[in-house]
Amino acid sequence: MADGKGFIGEFKEFIAKGNVLDMAVGVIIGGAFGTIVSSLVEDVITPIIGMIGGNADFSSLKLGPIMIGNFINAVINFLIIALVLFGVIKAFNKARSLTEKPAEEAAPTTKICPFCKSEIALDATRCPHCTSEVK
Ligand SMILES: [Zn+2]
Repeated sequence: MADGKGFIGEFKEFIAKGNVLDMAVGVIIGGAFGTIVSSLVEDVITPIIGMIGGNADFSSLKLGPIMIGNFINAVINFLIIALVLFGVIKAFNKARSLTEKPAEEAAPTTKICPFCKSEIALDATRCPHCTSEVK
């Protein structure tokens, strides 16, 4: 997942095509976080923006009959949830990759010559050090 695309690139990729496990984890954690994030947006972020300058209560925003404000709030909620999940799953994947053993436990490529005890190639039929024939 991490190959130099950067945080934003990974985030876009995560939104675009999370794999099945990620999606399952996302649904579960998303449900748990949904309430918290809604509260965060409505009770913390919106008032803060309001303090900085002007009315930031998007829910009262209308374009004629279109309740664009609710949609904007939903989009903000989604982005925050996705961002939080992205962080959680990123940490989860990192932890998983740390606990998993490396796929291939470096197979031996050398053996010891029975005559001179030198290290020689595994498929050598004659020792390069003492010129003995080996199996
Ligand atoms: Zn040898």
